[in-house]
Amino acid sequence: MSKFIYADNAATTSLSPAAFEAMKPYFSEFYGNASSLYKLGGQSQKAVDNARAVIAECINAPKPNNIFFVSGGSEADNWALKGAAELGERKNKKHIISSKFEHHAILHTLEYLEKHGFEITLLDVHENGIVSPEELDKAIREDTALVTIMFANNEIGTVQPIKELAQIAHKHNVLFHTDAVQAVGNIPVDVQDLDVDMLSMSSHKFHGPKGMGALYVKKGIRLPNLIHGGAQERGLRAGTENTPGIVGMSVALKEAVEKIPEKNARLEKMRDRLIESLLKIDRSRINGDRIHRLPGNVNMCFEGIEGESLLLMLDLNGICASSGSACTSGSLDPSHVLLSIGLPHEIAHGSLRLTFGDENTEEDIDYIIKTIPPIVERLRSMSPLWEKIVKENS
Ligand SMILES: *Cc1c(COP(=O)(O)O)cnc(C)c1O
Repeated sequence: MSKFIYADNAATTSLSPAAFEAMKPYFSEFYGNASSLYKLGGQSQKAVDNARAVIAECINAPKPNNIFFVSGGSEADNWALKGAAELGERKNKKHIISSKFEHHAILHTLEYLEKHGFEITLLDVHENGIVSPEELDKAIREDTALVTIMFANNEIGTVQPIKELAQIAHKHNVLFHTDAVQAVGNIPVDVQDLDVDMLSMSSHKFHGPKGMGALYVKKGIRLPNLIHGGAQERGLRAGTENTPGIVGMSVALKEAVEKIPEKNARLEKMRDRLIESLLKIDRSRINGDRIHRLPGNVNMCFEGIEGESLLLMLDLNGICASSGSACTSGSLDPSHVLLSIGLPHEIAHGSLRLTFGDENTEEDIDYIIKTIPPIVERLRSMSPLWEKIVKENS
């Protein structure tokens, strides 16, 4: 494949070479089942234990056994929500609070729970893409079993006041979960300081292998089984451990967390330069709060064009970007996230998400700044919608 600029790090990331190297022996020499009693299995068990301790340390979890390995962010979210729902149901609490712009792993799980008799309140996220702690306080009821609010949004990158939100939930004795898939490895995450009860993460969003994730569960929360079977993951999530995946995830996370200060200073500069430059395009806008957002996230709308056509043109010019989340591509509906911050359908259609990571350079930004404006101009010159906008405003 010829050279291209990868600007879709919120969808997935490349595998860290160090993580890849660390995984290799567990595919070949050390293939033993971590649960077996001979030395070969013992080596796998040691690797799993070590990885659990490393991951716990990266998010400042008190103990390695607060970390449960799962197959990814979606599974962690499903377990946290269905598990908390079951715990709530035992006390006759059947109300759950979340927000309008969660990932589908949350929203669709909530729809499922709604079909099973739960009542769901989705909080507004306002034009800045941020949940208001006061509104959460007002929404909590006697029968609220769980509050789940994402840490950082995967489309517009806005970062939520998680510590405050968790405090409010706890004031009312309600469990608090956060989908931190976009936060872990990208910004500092300290589960004790935030005082969250459960937190989801996904390995492939921080240069670890795909198909791996973890759920942090605070001590004292007795989450029901996710998968019935063997005694793995303290008997709660059965199935032979994915030793190479677990090792790769831990190496990638440690590396990502160590790089955060240096990387983020660089990314913020690149992000702000790109935003300034793209905002010079007529009838363009930035989506989500300018300050409380992930260092590598740029999400813009250009009126009068279709996001999809823009993406195809960018691809032809060697730029990998996205118009929302990978999960909604293939559908013609505008992003639920952009609608949640109040954008009208026709504007939400012309959105572009560029998400940068460790491998991106200032040269990438130069190239993108040079490439996008003529493409927008060309697409607008062919767009009846743009013609209408120009007429209406002349
Ligand atoms: C990617 C993502 C998920 C899903 O994670 P997988 O590991 O792909 O299942 C969940 N939530 C958010 C916010 C994400 O960005």
